[in-house]
Order: sequence, then C-alpha cells, then structure tokens
Amino acid sequence: MELAYSICFFIFGTLIGSFLNVCIYRIPRNESIVTTNSHCPHCQSFIKPYDNIPILSYLFLGGKCRNCRESISMRYPLVEFITGLVFLINYQQLGLSISLGLNLVLSCVLILITFIDFDTLLIPDRFHVIIGGLAIINLILNPTQLTSSLIGAIIISVPFLIIAMTTGGMGGGDIKLMFVAGLYLGWQATLVSFFIASISGGLYALYLILFKKQGRKAEMPFGPFLCIGILIASLYSTQLITWYLSL
Ligand SMILES: [Zn+2]
Repeated sequence: MELAYSICFFIFGTLIGSFLNVCIYRIPRNESIVTTNSHCPHCQSFIKPYDNIPILSYLFLGGKCRNCRESISMRYPLVEFITGLVFLINYQQLGLSISLGLNLVLSCVLILITFIDFDTLLIPDRFHVIIGGLAIINLILNPTQLTSSLIGAIIISVPFLIIAMTTGGMGGGDIKLMFVAGLYLGWQATLVSFFIASISGGLYALYLILFKKQGRKAEMPFGPFLCIGILIASLYSTQLITWYLSL
C-alpha cells in the first residue's frame, strides 16, 4: 500500500511538473497560464494530449516536436521528473498530513523560482506572497512556533539586506525569499537552508570559473541555491541538525 501511494505521488508530481513547465515558460513572458493550450515554441502547432504525457511523450518522440521535428528542450522532462521525485520524497517524509499539503505547494513554488531565476535573474513577487501565505497557515496550525518563525524571518534576510545596502551584491528577490521562507521554516531550519545554499552555490560558482563558462564578474543567480536549501531544510532539517551536532 505504501508503495502504491509512493507511485501515485510520483505520477501526480510529474503531471504537476508538466503544468510547472507551462508556468516557467509563460510567467516571465506575462502570458496567461490557464487559457491557451500548450504549443511548440518553434512551429506554434498545438500539442495533442497524447503527446503531452509527462516524461514518456518526450522519450517516445525522441525529444522532437511531432510536427516540425525541431528538438524539444531536455528541461521539460527534467522538470517533470524532478517534480515527481520531490512529491515522492515529500510523501515519504511527511506522510498523509496537512504539513504534506503545505510542503507540496512550497515545493512547486521553489521549483518555479529555481528555473525562472536562472532564466531571468528575477523572482516574481507573487511567489513571495504564496510562501508568506503558507507560513501564516502553518503558524495558525502551530501557534507555538511563532517566536522561532519570527527569528527565522530575519535571521538571514536582515544580513542579506545589509549586504545589499552596503555592497549591492544581493538581489531584492533573495532578501524577500529568505524573509518568507524563514517565517515558514523557523530559525534552525532557515540556518540549515542557508548553509546548503552557500555550499551548493559556491560549488556551482567554482564550476563556472574552472570551466570558464562565465567570467568571474558575470551575475550568477543565488535564488536557485536558496530554493534547494529551503526544500532540503523543509524536509530534513531535524536530521541534519542532529547529524551536525553529533560530529
Ligand atoms: Zn514544432
């Protein structure tokens, strides 16, 4: 039964991932995410429902549009797979609970921010509003976490704000993200998320420099790494803190 649920959550996640792909493409272009059907970005032909099955359609069509045979970005099945995997992990960590519902919404928003920030270096404000809303629902359900949440909201965002004001080296979207995510996570998990973001972001920057992908001065988005940190901290912060203290 456990396995059946896990498989269902993975498949459900890939379907949601398919919708996230639409959002990642359309939100930065200010296009509606609900009205028109999906179409090929090359030839504009509408994608038939049977060619829109997450992951499988991409494999079946060999990564090409059925109409114009232009290559379809690997990113589409990748986002679907990641979302499926994240839904599965959320279910296994949190079980069937209200926390699971909140964390699934959070996960979707974090996946959207990750890819949109990579593309545009911007985090649309609506995402901060959604995470802030999740944090408030969480606080209504768990009012004893209020102090931890309030500390979480400022523990990283205020240092970020100071860095932004003194050096200009931090984006406003990242500051707001760590404010609302901190409110959701509480202070311990917020610190965990920041450490994971710093390590993963640092490794990525090193990779860019070593392989000369980008000049040292080129702007690198930090939001995607904050999102990875927030997602991992929302699921594993207790285990990670226990592990760290045992070292
Ligand atoms: Zn096409």
